[in-house]
Amino acid sequence: MVMPSAGEIAGSVWFIGVALFAASVCCNAQAVDDVWKAGVARCDITPQEPMWLAGYGNRDRPSEGTLHPLWAKALAVEDAEGHRAVLVTSDLLGFPKAMSDRIRDRLGDTFGLLRAQIILNGSHTHSGPVLEDSLYNIYPFEEDETEKIERYSRGLEDQIVALVGNALTGLAPARLFSANGVTRFAVNRRNNAETQILDNHDLKGPVDHAVPVLKVAREDGALLAVVFGYACHATTLNAYQWCGDYPGFAQLELEAAHPGATALFFAGCGADQNPLPRRTVPLAQQYGRELAAAVERVLADPMKTLAPSLKAEYAEIELALSPPPNREELVRLAGGQAGITQRAAKRFLASLDQGRPLPITYPYPVQLWRLGDQTVLSLGGEVVVDYAIAMKGILGPDTFIMAFSNDLLGYVPSLRVLREGGYEGDTSQMEYELPSKWAEDIESRITAAVRELAAKTGMGENARH
Ligand SMILES: [Zn+2]
Repeated sequence: MVMPSAGEIAGSVWFIGVALFAASVCCNAQAVDDVWKAGVARCDITPQEPMWLAGYGNRDRPSEGTLHPLWAKALAVEDAEGHRAVLVTSDLLGFPKAMSDRIRDRLGDTFGLLRAQIILNGSHTHSGPVLEDSLYNIYPFEEDETEKIERYSRGLEDQIVALVGNALTGLAPARLFSANGVTRFAVNRRNNAETQILDNHDLKGPVDHAVPVLKVAREDGALLAVVFGYACHATTLNAYQWCGDYPGFAQLELEAAHPGATALFFAGCGADQNPLPRRTVPLAQQYGRELAAAVERVLADPMKTLAPSLKAEYAEIELALSPPPNREELVRLAGGQAGITQRAAKRFLASLDQGRPLPITYPYPVQLWRLGDQTVLSLGGEVVVDYAIAMKGILGPDTFIMAFSNDLLGYVPSLRVLREGGYEGDTSQMEYELPSKWAEDIESRITAAVRELAAKTGMGENARH
């Protein structure tokens, strides 16, 4: 590991680092220690009243109790030079853009954190609450339900801001370690029929069965936090009780095994992956235990020690959509069969009537962190597994890859999936109020952005071309 000079540190982080340094002069003596600092915090975000659960369009009523509480958790880290970053994980479908923007603005105003320094990740549990302005097209709830959703969402924003504050307040000397494990319950749902899963002896990929693990130890060696991920939809369950699905059970398992430690789960590029078979609580528990066991194995084996050097870069790139349907086509869809497409068409027509043209591009968040020599790539939306494979090819096989970060904008297909079509490549767009498929350069635009961020963090010579 080569320690960066100030000139090598990415501009955005360097500037905020200077600002934080200047604002915390009393901490200078600690900031020059050659160790990380880390702080963790958690808050219970379980709705206090019955609400609609997020993720499926075929539920027909609000929640009915709690299987286990929903959590938001934060890990703050600070490197030897005082550069900070915060990862927020959550038992949520994902943070919709408007909400994510508001939270990140407030984190900027309150704590001086830039976009590059914040990751807001959702586990993509389908047993969490519907959030403000997110996927309203797919839920058949009445108009008055939105008031409750907005009230919860605004309260959640306050909770996340306070959560990050608590994690920052708790910053204390720590050591960071990383490694990848493996577990294999994710199944490519596009290429294997769910109904025949138990008779299928030749499961088809692609898949990403890596279990990225970041271990955060206190100075005395005790486990402060363990961050881990997996590239698979949190869709074991489809009932009416609040639950973190298999990621929730995995975190409970790890926290029970390591009293005093906080377990944080992040979702990877599992947009086209399901935990199969599924649909029972014991299966969700089983997958949670499998994932926790994979993490335990990594913790027990030697891990890479991460030097206390942080680099963080963030970009919002323009992703192009293919040409939207015209008014005539929307009128036809709006008058068609009741359902998601019809509701979406009505919303699009209302937009046009108000003089608002349909979107032809979308600002897509791409983010890269380097914790010592551990690369962490964070992408927005429901990203298909092809990206995990391609990005590991560019950034290295040990790269940690998060999806469902900072914006739950919709599915993010590779060119292959886009051309194949189907749900992840085409028909899910209307659910997310995107009027048409992505343009065919989606993968090349994202790949170019990742390469650019890698170069900015000094990986240019290491990233493979
Ligand atoms: Zn999904």
